[in-house]
Amino acid sequence: MSRIHVNCKTLFTGLEDDARSDQALVIENGVFSYVGPQSSAPRPELGDEVVDAGDHFVMPGLVDVHTHLVFGNAKSEEDVDLFVSPEFRALRGLFFTQHVLAAGYTSVVVPGDAGQCSVSVRNAINAGMFKGPRIAASSNVIANRQSLNDWFPSWVGTPDYFTGRLCETRDEQVAEIRRQAKDGVDLIKISMDGAHMRENGEHIAAFTQEETSAMVAEAHRLGKKIAVHAYGREAVMYAAKAGVDVIFHAFFLDDACIDAILQSGSHIAPTLTMLANNVEFAETYEASTKSGYRAMQQRVIDIGCRNLRKAREAGVPFMTGSDAGFAITPYGEWHAREIEILVEWLGFSPAQALRAATSVSAKMMPATQKVGALEVGRRADFIFVEGSPLQNVSILQEREKIRGVFLGGVRVQAQVPGYDPNRVSDFNTVKWSELHTRKRAVEMGKRPSSIDLPKASL
Ligand SMILES: [Zn+2]
Repeated sequence: MSRIHVNCKTLFTGLEDDARSDQALVIENGVFSYVGPQSSAPRPELGDEVVDAGDHFVMPGLVDVHTHLVFGNAKSEEDVDLFVSPEFRALRGLFFTQHVLAAGYTSVVVPGDAGQCSVSVRNAINAGMFKGPRIAASSNVIANRQSLNDWFPSWVGTPDYFTGRLCETRDEQVAEIRRQAKDGVDLIKISMDGAHMRENGEHIAAFTQEETSAMVAEAHRLGKKIAVHAYGREAVMYAAKAGVDVIFHAFFLDDACIDAILQSGSHIAPTLTMLANNVEFAETYEASTKSGYRAMQQRVIDIGCRNLRKAREAGVPFMTGSDAGFAITPYGEWHAREIEILVEWLGFSPAQALRAATSVSAKMMPATQKVGALEVGRRADFIFVEGSPLQNVSILQEREKIRGVFLGGVRVQAQVPGYDPNRVSDFNTVKWSELHTRKRAVEMGKRPSSIDLPKASL
C-alpha cells in the first residue's frame, strides 16, 4: 500500500507550545502513521509519494465550530428563514464550503440549520461526490418562546423550513432531539437565551434547568453533542450544569458559572468575530449606528472580554468560531479573526489560540472524524502557511498565505469562483430605507427650500 511522506522544516502539532524542526509526516489511508523527526522516519518505498513542505509552516487544518453553512451570507433574519428553499440552501452551502476550505479551514461545525441541509452537504462530501471540509452537521435550533431563532411573531411561528423549531414543553424538546438524532445530525443546538430581562437587566433563560438537563441528557444518551447559544448568566449556568459540550458567547457569565463549567468539562466558544465586525464596519453604516446596535455590540464586547478573560485564567478550555454565514461574516473571509481576538482581547498566547482553533475545537467533530492535531491515528488534515502564525496569528486571515490545504494527506485545490450575491441571498424586498416626507425632499435638494410646507408635514 502506498504512503505519503511529507518533509517539514517547521511543524506545529496543534498540541504543544512550540514548533518542531526537521519533522516528517507519514500518511496511510488518510491517517497519520508517523509524526516525528525526519532522521527516524520510515524510508519512502517504491510507489510512495514524497511531498516537500519547503519553508512553509505546517500545522493542522483549522476548525471553526460556528459556521452557518446554510445562511447564505444573510442580511436579516427574514433572509435566513423566508426566501430560499431548503434545496437551494443545501446547494448554496455546498458551494460555500469551497470558500471555507480555501481559507485553510478543513473542518466546520454547523450549529443550527434547517431540515436536512447541512446533513446533506456532509453526506455528499463524505460519499466522495465533492471535495469539501469535514462537517459536523445539525438540524433546526431548538427554541422556546422568545429565544433566538423564534424571532418572528407567534402568529408566524416556526414552519418546518425555518432554522428554529419551537419546542415549548419538555416532551416536545426531547422528541425533537430524538427526531434530529434519527435524521443523522452530529450535534444539536439549543437557543438558551430568552428575550426577556429582569429589572436588573439580566437575561432570563428561555428554558428551565430541568428542561435543559433533560435535553442534554437525551442528546448525550443518543451519542449527539450539544451546542448552546447563551449570552446571559442564567442561560450559561443552566447549560454548564446540564453538561453541554460547547457554550457560544457566554459573555455575561460570573464566577459561579466558571466553576460550573470547570466541573462539567464544557467549552466556551466566544464567537466575538461577529461583534468585532459589527462594531468596526457599522462605523460606515448609518442605520446601525443610529439604531444603537453598534453601541450595544461594543458594550457586550467590553463586558464579555472582562468576563471571558477570567474564564481563561481559571482554566476553562476555549474553542474558536466565527458565526460565518452572515453578510457581516461572509464565508471564507473572517474565520481566523477569532484566533486574533483570543490573542489580542483575551490574553491567549499564539500557541494557546492555535491549539484552541485546532485540537480543542476538533473535539466538536464526530468521533469518526478524529482531526485537529498532527498525531498518529488522526486524519491527516493539514495546511502549509507562508510565515509563522506563532509569530503573528493574524497572517492566517490572509488567504494568499495559505499555500496548501490537505485533506487525508491529499492536496485539494479549493475553487472560489465569483458569483452574483444578489441571486444567492438578499431577497428582502426592502425598497426604501427612510421616510420620504416633503421636508426630507427639501433636505435632499429635490424641492426648493422656499416651498411653503403645510404645518402637518413638518
Ligand atoms: Zn450563530
